[in-house]
Amino acid sequence: MLFRNACYLVSRPRPAGGVIENGAIYIEGPLIVEVGLTVDLERRYLHLPGVEVIDASDKIVLPGLVDAHNHLGEAHTLLVEGWLASSIRGIVDATERIYWPAYGWLTKESAYDLTLFGLLNVLKHGATTHADAMIFPEAMARASIQARGRTVLHPQMISSVALPDARDEREYLAHTEAAIRNYHNQMDGLIRVGVHANAVFNCSRELLVKGMELACKYGVQFAVHIAESDDEKERTDSVWAAQGGLVGHMHTLGLLNRHTLLFHGSLLSEAEIDLLASADAALVHCPATNAWFGQCAYLPYMVQAGMRLGLGTDCVTHNLFNVMLSVLQHHNIMPRALRGLPAWKVFELATLGGARALGMEDQIGSLEPGKRADLITLDLQHNTSLFPLSVESLYDRLALNAAGSEACDVIIDGVFIRRHGAFTLLDEEAIIARAREWCHKFGIDFAAARTAGRSMVRRIQPEFQSPDQELDE
Ligand SMILES: [Zn+2]
Repeated sequence: MLFRNACYLVSRPRPAGGVIENGAIYIEGPLIVEVGLTVDLERRYLHLPGVEVIDASDKIVLPGLVDAHNHLGEAHTLLVEGWLASSIRGIVDATERIYWPAYGWLTKESAYDLTLFGLLNVLKHGATTHADAMIFPEAMARASIQARGRTVLHPQMISSVALPDARDEREYLAHTEAAIRNYHNQMDGLIRVGVHANAVFNCSRELLVKGMELACKYGVQFAVHIAESDDEKERTDSVWAAQGGLVGHMHTLGLLNRHTLLFHGSLLSEAEIDLLASADAALVHCPATNAWFGQCAYLPYMVQAGMRLGLGTDCVTHNLFNVMLSVLQHHNIMPRALRGLPAWKVFELATLGGARALGMEDQIGSLEPGKRADLITLDLQHNTSLFPLSVESLYDRLALNAAGSEACDVIIDGVFIRRHGAFTLLDEEAIIARAREWCHKFGIDFAAARTAGRSMVRRIQPEFQSPDQELDE
């Protein structure tokens, strides 16, 4: 397959470079063979028998974006905040009043349909790779296989509540191990699995340690949310003060190494970031959620410290083009010693950075020979926000002005998932209709539970377990 005549083609983002005008890319099967000028690639590949030629005039060709943290099956949770009598104070409050009741309601069927809805949104907005932290791993996997998205499944484990797919820690661990055995590297590597403990404050020491052991055993990542809001960070630092606070506690438990994938880290200090960087832990920055809780991770310092960093939406209806805009703006405003990031770096974080954070840098994140053919196009013919463009201004315009853009074409492993602005494999209208029905049913069930004073989720262990508490058990 030969894409030619692209107005601009981004091969590998770098300062003032990596952009080819009148670019072309030649793909064989799932792999990129060559990237370069149209005139050169036409000479080499146009005469080959059976070559499919695609004209990319009036288009930008980009590496597929990498949404390194999302929860694809939780669209229904977005309704809950509007039903609450008071606003959310932080992540501890949010999990208590929004997420666990809403996760407690899910079934295998609703999780599957809602995950498909989430896939529509990420794929439509150009994220060819997405990491999905949810429950019901078979439903997550089935939806991802159907959509043919490049997915890292993060089946969620937790100690404090029993959710509908697991009654206790042992069952959570067993589900995760089964998911790794059944789905990791399936579909020619399109589907991957990582171990995911929801957060340090709501997982027991035993679950965290066993989770990391499982990750090391299978050579996969160990993902966890940390330091997301004040209510969590202050209490974790106080409960584990003897270990040096939250990050010291994680270090003591052996949770910081090259397998570690952290979400957020909004409240990490410079010393904590240094420790994470020296352990080669990766981190996914999710500015929208950070801002919801009135925080902003110290990303420029993390970049300087040399951490492996990616970007995440952390919200099923959000998208990475908007996240790039948030990153540019938030870090310009934050009154810190290091401020601002160049646009090319923001775009790099949304592509190659995410690939690095997920341990997939050798396969995705840039358009280079030998890598997987994951690419997207943006249509310029009907676009007013990306105007005017030049090679020199491309990263600035993409990071600042592409917010909300839909990808015209989405190709994953050399296969069109979306073409000329329409899905090729998924029935968009039917998927949205089913998601709407589930959300409507959730509203009725949520109201009924509240009227009856019935909890939608069963608590099984306390959060913020002190070292003494854990030893008692
Ligand atoms: Zn999250």
